[in-house]
Amino acid sequence: MIQRELEDKYLVMPEKAELLIDVALRNRPYLPNREEAVRFIGVYIGIPFCPSRCYYCSFPGYPLQHRPGLSEFFQALIYEVRQTGQALKELNLVVDNLYIGGGTPTVLDAPLWDKLLDSLQGGILGPETTEFTVEAGRPDTLKPEILNLLINGGVNRICVNPQTMNDKTLIRIGRQHDAQMIRDAFAMVRHTGFKHINMDLIVGLPEEGRTEFEQSLREVLRLGPESITVHHLSRKRGSTWQMQEVDVNQDPIGQMVGNTDEIMVKAGYLPYYLYRQKYMRGNQENIGYARPGSFSKYNIRIIEERQTIIGLGGGAASKFVNPNNWTLTTLYHPKDPATYINKVEGLINAQVDKLRALS
Ligand code: SF4
Repeated sequence: MIQRELEDKYLVMPEKAELLIDVALRNRPYLPNREEAVRFIGVYIGIPFCPSRCYYCSFPGYPLQHRPGLSEFFQALIYEVRQTGQALKELNLVVDNLYIGGGTPTVLDAPLWDKLLDSLQGGILGPETTEFTVEAGRPDTLKPEILNLLINGGVNRICVNPQTMNDKTLIRIGRQHDAQMIRDAFAMVRHTGFKHINMDLIVGLPEEGRTEFEQSLREVLRLGPESITVHHLSRKRGSTWQMQEVDVNQDPIGQMVGNTDEIMVKAGYLPYYLYRQKYMRGNQENIGYARPGSFSKYNIRIIEERQTIIGLGGGAASKFVNPNNWTLTTLYHPKDPATYINKVEGLINAQVDKLRALS
């Protein structure tokens, strides 16, 4: 019935309709009911700095030398985290999932991580925060000292994102590391004791076809992460390639995807969330695969919009969900660190007002 409606009314291809239904059924146990949505929220913290800028990226990933720099941004962030934590306590709101992304949050050094983890104790992180993810997207930022702080600070899911395991492509996309550094970073993260590692790959990178993508996929599978997100390249606004009008790849995208789904399912991973973005190659979707039991609550809820998730820091988006009628309002934090610093007080007040109105 639903399959037919998707195909007839929305002209969805039969295999995509099947995928959508499978994903929706897997999502269902992770969606809060009304009572849960009144009490529990999620938090996203954006650290908009990276060691260097990847050419395809439109995320807020300012190279570290950006002015005003990391320390001024960090001061404003700690202030926002502490003020928001205090407000959450007063409003009796409990954070059950926390995600620190960016950018590359692991550009923060150990003393800064120490301060940030400490500030989270003031009302954001608590015993009911069952999922705490940190993006360690770039292996060139990972150090044992930081990983130890993260695991002792409650982080239980970490993302090490190769995008490709092909050394030549890594150079072409502006990364400053090779595939061996990814293998070493993965081993370091595992050795620290992390039980859930996610890895991201991109289909359609320059001069990569189906063979190259499948090589990366198989190599990542050999490492054995608990989840793998397969993105499709998009020429997003704000990326270096979009600004330079670089034509990234001519191959038909359908051929490049190949039999990814079959390979993933055979290896024990199931598609559990998906989304589309503007300007994506071949009108495909990004799909999160995970082993059963390793589905990310944050990823499902940010896409399904069935839980309020507030954003703090640079470039963060907040989604406020009214549990009485499931309507949505949003609030966006500026990407630019200088603008964020200037506006932080107003952002805190606006955010707390919206939370109060929902409680
Ligand atoms: S893709 Fe990730 S690591 Fe690369 S610039 Fe963007 S946020 Fe930074």
